[in-house]
Amino acid sequence: MSSEHQPPAGPAPAEHRILNPATEEVIATVPATTPDQVDAAVTRAAEAQRQWAALAPGDRARLLRRFAATVDTHLEELAQLEVREAGHPVGNARWEAGNARDLLEYAAGGIERLTGTQIPVAGGLNITLHEPLGVVAVIAPWNFPMPIAAWGTAPALAAGNAVLLKPAETTPLTALRLAELGLAAGLPEGLFQVLPGAGPVAGTALVEHPGVAKVVFTGSTGVGKQIMARCADGVKRVTLELGGKSPNIVFADADIEKAAAAAPGSFLDNTGQDCCARSRILVQASVYDRFLELLEPAVKAVTVGDPADPATGMGPLISAAQRDRVRSYVPDDAPVAIRGEAPEGKGFWYPATVLEGRPEDRAATEEIFGPVAVVLPFEDEADAVRLANATDYGLSGSIWTRDVGRALRVSGAVAAGNLSVNSHSSVRYWTPFGGYKQSGLGRELGPDALAAFTETKNVFISTEEQ
Ligand code: NAD
Repeated sequence: MSSEHQPPAGPAPAEHRILNPATEEVIATVPATTPDQVDAAVTRAAEAQRQWAALAPGDRARLLRRFAATVDTHLEELAQLEVREAGHPVGNARWEAGNARDLLEYAAGGIERLTGTQIPVAGGLNITLHEPLGVVAVIAPWNFPMPIAAWGTAPALAAGNAVLLKPAETTPLTALRLAELGLAAGLPEGLFQVLPGAGPVAGTALVEHPGVAKVVFTGSTGVGKQIMARCADGVKRVTLELGGKSPNIVFADADIEKAAAAAPGSFLDNTGQDCCARSRILVQASVYDRFLELLEPAVKAVTVGDPADPATGMGPLISAAQRDRVRSYVPDDAPVAIRGEAPEGKGFWYPATVLEGRPEDRAATEEIFGPVAVVLPFEDEADAVRLANATDYGLSGSIWTRDVGRALRVSGAVAAGNLSVNSHSSVRYWTPFGGYKQSGLGRELGPDALAAFTETKNVFISTEEQ
């Protein structure tokens, strides 16, 4: 949701009804965690963390590998749960379950390699140590419930911490199942707990709890700013993965057919509910018309419908509220260039939509978080970079060109954490991920993921005679 998003007024619900967004059927009812329950969970987690951190690194690694193996044997079940609670096409949901497993394996492999350094000094020995932080809160959004839960949880556990995971109100089911699988794999009781509930209640209680050492938040920039301000009080550690309005820059010297064929995936994947969505398509003016001609059939070729069908490319939006929000960016007089199809009837459907317009339009500047992109022409390289950077966000972006010098110049000039050249791929669990500017703070994934869940302690040992 955007920074204008406010929680609904009135008392927080005691439970959350989980809807299948493709059918609007209630598939589960999940109790909401109260602040008292958060407090009790922190106490249990702190006790479990002390035991966990005292284990030999090889034993922690073995348990996390067993957790990964248990997830592996439940991949299809987890994927089907993601299809039902988040409306993701089953092919994507399978990738997401595999990503959670991969993260656990990767983090387990980092445990014995989380080494300190020895730095030359006079008169003694200087070493650095990586110590776990304690209890870490991971607050996850609804758009990729399973991977994002794992991105925070796996490295935090590997580095010797306990994790309290608060999933989004609409999508707690895969997170709850992951915690059960962790216990079944032999993780100590209390080490990894899932606390479903309302952001302003369970989320706030976690952020403000003095027993929580770090908050890893993935969600909207507005809520991220509030969390950062709350963390300031106790100088609590914080990692923020926030919104985006990423550019897809197509130069005239690119393979235009390839760029147009790839573009739909970059803003329609996950029905556009993707922080990395390339929702601003910047096209060099000399190939603008040709690009739009090629884009239209590519957008219309994306199959929209039942997420459980392996042929489906795009499912529904997560909720009626999200659909209303997306609609608000496409008023009746909007300059629609391309419009796809969407099913009628039950389910939170919205068609793929490409708008023309001006760089200052609301649809071209705000994160829509739906299957809507804006296409804008640019004159030259400097103009492309200026447009790409004309946003408070800086999460990702793509550059299409055959000129390697230009690819490197533009990659250097665009202020974003994850750029791809002649590709839209942004996420690999073994490469770092995170945002510039108001898209975030800190990095997840990649070789430094575990270190982000530690304090570095410097110890100097004098060798003077005593
Ligand atoms: P959101 O900010 O509304 O909610 C995210 C999580 O925060 C939920 O679990 C929610 O319950 C909780 N929350 C809400 N208010 C809170 C509060 N006051 N204190 C503590 N927790 C609170 O975001 P969303 O609508 O669930 O997710 C969509 C947003 O997430 C988009 O802006 C998207 O770009 C962003 N996102 C970013 C990344 C990234 O890696 N940069 C990845 C996925 C999603």
